[in-house]
Amino acid sequence: MSILVLAEHQDGALAGATAHVVAAAKAIGGDIDVLVAGEGVAAVAEAAAGLDGVGKVRVADNAAYAHQLAEPMAALIAELADDYGHVLAAASTSGKNVLPRVAALKDVAQISEIIAVESPDTFKRPIYAGNAIATVQSEDALKVITVRTTGFDAVGEGGSAGVEAIDFVADNSQSTFIKEELAESDRPELGAAKVVVSGGRGMGNGENFKLLDGIADKLGAAVGASRAAVDAGFVPNDMQVGQTGKIVAPELYIAVGISGAIQHLAGMKDSKVIVAINKDEEAPIFQVADYGLVADLFDALPELEQKL
Ligand SMILES: Cc1cc2nc3c(=O)[nH]c(=O)nc-3n(C[C@H](O)[C@H](O)[C@H](O)COP(=O)(O)OP(=O)(O)OC[C@H]3O[C@@H](n4cnc5c(N)ncnc54)[C@H](O)[C@@H]3O)c2cc1C
Repeated sequence: MSILVLAEHQDGALAGATAHVVAAAKAIGGDIDVLVAGEGVAAVAEAAAGLDGVGKVRVADNAAYAHQLAEPMAALIAELADDYGHVLAAASTSGKNVLPRVAALKDVAQISEIIAVESPDTFKRPIYAGNAIATVQSEDALKVITVRTTGFDAVGEGGSAGVEAIDFVADNSQSTFIKEELAESDRPELGAAKVVVSGGRGMGNGENFKLLDGIADKLGAAVGASRAAVDAGFVPNDMQVGQTGKIVAPELYIAVGISGAIQHLAGMKDSKVIVAINKDEEAPIFQVADYGLVADLFDALPELEQKL
């Protein structure tokens, strides 16, 4: 049985998510190939070849995959899929864009956001915003799976897989790359940060998020937000943590002025240590917090920053 893992990469670097997906592939068991598709991706392929457990890296280095548009990526994977029993990608924005198309092209069901592998055909995945865990079994010959990266510890380095070029060039007449606008930040990426400090509606306005910046700078943390804070226009929506935002599981998550709605918890409750600062002692966030501080954030944050 062979497994194809779609490598995620940006700006010529392999994304950390891929090492988590390879870990999921290892849990399934079998030969693991990693597909690197893009333009000028030799360094990405080399990094993928160094991941523990990878047997082979297949590289489609062609202008057709330059911006990893979903249509040519899906066509490429569908072309290769007959060699495999499983195709895996991270349940990231890119993975969620590409894999459902692959499933449709191969006429199989997609299995979304697995968090555990029971056996090669049976997986666990959260449903109802993480309030229940479904165990799902697939009888499809090809299993197309997105992996919630927080569910699997990343594999390390130390592999020395061979690298093989793929000639297939997908014919894409459906979509065209126009432009991209990337948020620039010196902070760690929200999904990969070891410490996340998030603010909610209680922050009051976007200006007050500066109170979190000072703490984040001291802790080397990423800054996140609740949806209410995003919807109110305090901060951009790429900072949203939760069911319809990013799923994070850092070593430390500090929730400030966030009530703890289930949709927010769905995005952060697997964090190792959760700290909540809220002036309402009845706030549901305290039910999941390891450490709770009932305080006005406008008093607590400056004091915390000063003590740090
Ligand atoms: C389909 C769907 C998807 C959703 N997806 C998401 C999602 O991905 N992420 C998400 O976050 N939400 C999501 N939501 C919204 C969610 O239900 C909540 O509305 C939202 O999380 C509330 O955000 P909040 O905790 O910041 O605001 P509130 O619930 O208004 O809480 C604000 C908190 O701040 C505290 N506070 C106020 N002032 C202070 C102060 N001075 N000092 C200390 N504490 C203070 C208050 O006591 C309160 O607990 C979704 C909802 C739906 C229906």
